[in-house]
This record gives sequence, structure tokens and C-alpha cells, in this order.
Amino acid sequence: MFWTGELIAKTAPVRRRATSAHPPHIDRGIAAYLGLAIGDALGATVEFLTPNEIRHQIGLHSEITGGGWLRLKAGQVTDDTTMSLALGDSIIASGGVHAKPIAEAFDAWMRAKPVDIGNTVRRNLVTFRKTGNPEAAQSEHDAGNGAAMRVLPVALACYGQPENSSILANHAQAHVTHHNLLSDAACETLIFMVQDFLAGRDPIDVERERVGKLVSAFPVFAYDKRLRENPSGFVVDTLQAVFQSFFATETFEDCLIDVVNRGGDADTTGAIAGMLAGARYGLDSIPKRWLKAVDEKIRSQCEAQALALLSGFSLSI
Ligand code: MN
Ligand code: MN
Repeated sequence: MFWTGELIAKTAPVRRRATSAHPPHIDRGIAAYLGLAIGDALGATVEFLTPNEIRHQIGLHSEITGGGWLRLKAGQVTDDTTMSLALGDSIIASGGVHAKPIAEAFDAWMRAKPVDIGNTVRRNLVTFRKTGNPEAAQSEHDAGNGAAMRVLPVALACYGQPENSSILANHAQAHVTHHNLLSDAACETLIFMVQDFLAGRDPIDVERERVGKLVSAFPVFAYDKRLRENPSGFVVDTLQAVFQSFFATETFEDCLIDVVNRGGDADTTGAIAGMLAGARYGLDSIPKRWLKAVDEKIRSQCEAQALALLSGFSLSI
């Protein structure tokens, strides 16, 4: 069954709590956003630990407890979620995906002293402050995962539109801080995967078509060689860990537990895997204990933004 965005906008006002009464693509879009926040909050506890350190200190890490090197409260999220929310707010407020308002939103986000911030994000936002140019210079060094971790609002805003809209919209958001071919390829792959799962596509087809295309264009992304443990912030490492966990598991919970226990940049692998798993498995698949644990304000912002971006939102790029 297909619902038009216009119909949703008229009949389904933003709700405080998501229910499975939503049409499937909206249910999955909300689940993707909640999955992003849950993976971020879960993974942050073990960010920069090795799998061995996790085993010795915690055993199997499977609960949202806060702590970690950032000394977070249980349920607190990090830049992966808050930059996504800043991007989504900018898209909704400006009615489109435009580099300048996005750069301004990211700059305001940085001024508000986020708990963590990537080096590439900081450096290129400082440059934006000086130059007013929202597009960073292309750099082969800026292949971190900082643009890939925040693609979800673009995937939702461009859902149902021609693929080129997603590509252009992603350039606008990604190049504010990461102007890099590997980052772009990773971002686009993640966006199309989320959109495929929102449309209910089979994961085997999604893997073959989207991830297969990524690996044939950039063989460095191949993820069938060896177990990617302790993934760094390099977008290739990050996606290899995510794909290994995501395609080797069959539930939201197993996917997230598998990926965060690899350690390394675990809040970001958790966030990206949570986004994909939410989109694939839907709201009912998310463990209630994790939903309850996530900061309530963040949770309702994620739900409201997913609804707004998917519901009758007319977009200019
Ligand atoms: Mn983070
Ligand atoms: Mn991280």
C-alpha cells in the first residue's frame, strides 16, 4: 500500500510516541532515526576500546549505560546524532538541502559545545567561519566518517525522488566538512540503502546492488577479506565493520551488539548500523529497554524529524 506524503501531512500530526500505526515507510524511517541514536548511545560507552578491552572490562557490551571516555550519562548521544538533527532542522527550516544554511547550522552546533567533534569537522567549520564558503576544498585526506554518520536526514528528505536528487543533496551536506570521493561514495551508498529498506526491498538485493556497486567502483571497501575489528574513523574501516555486522545478523539487536563490540569508533559504527537496521527491521524490532534508555528529548526529536522529513515535505535542492 502506498500513501502520498500529502495525505500523511493532513491526517497524521506529529505524535509524541511513534506507534506502528504509521504506513511502513514512515515506521521504518522513524526506526532508522531511533536506531541511529540508540547505536550512538550504546557504542559511545566502548568508543576507542579494543574488542579485548571490552571483553575484560564489560564482557559483552549490550546495555546503554553511558560512561566511556566522554563520561556520558546513560542514554546520552554524541555528535553522530546531534549533527544529524542539526542537518535535519536546517533542511526543514530552509525547505531544502542547501550548503550555506547547513554550514550555518553546523557552525551553530559547534558553538553550542557538543560533547565530541571530529577533527575534520572542526577544521573545515573553522575555515567556513573565516571564508563564508560552505564548500570545503576537495582533499584526499578528509576521508573520515563524519559526513557518512549524518546522512539520514538527506535519505529521508529525498525518499521517493530521483537518485540524482539524493546525490546532489548529499554533496551539499557532506562537502561542508568532507569533500572527498571515498566519503561521497560511502554517503551515497548509505542513503540508497536506507531508501531501499524504507521501500521494503530485500536485503540480499540491496547488498548486491548498492554495496556491490560501491565495492566495484572502490575495491578498497571490500568487506569479505578479514574481520574488521577496532575500526578507525576512516570511512572505509567504518563501513567494513558495519557491513560485516549488518549482513551477518538477522535482528536489530544482534546487529548493534555485534558492531559495537568491535570497539574502535563504536559510537559511529553503532549509529550507522543502527540507522540501517532500523530501516530494515522497523520499529517493532527495536528492544524496548534500548528505546527507554535513550535520552527522551533526543528520542522525540528523532521521531518528529523523521515524520517531518517524510511527510508531505516539498523539497528544493
Ligand atoms: Mn560521536
Ligand atoms: Mn565516533
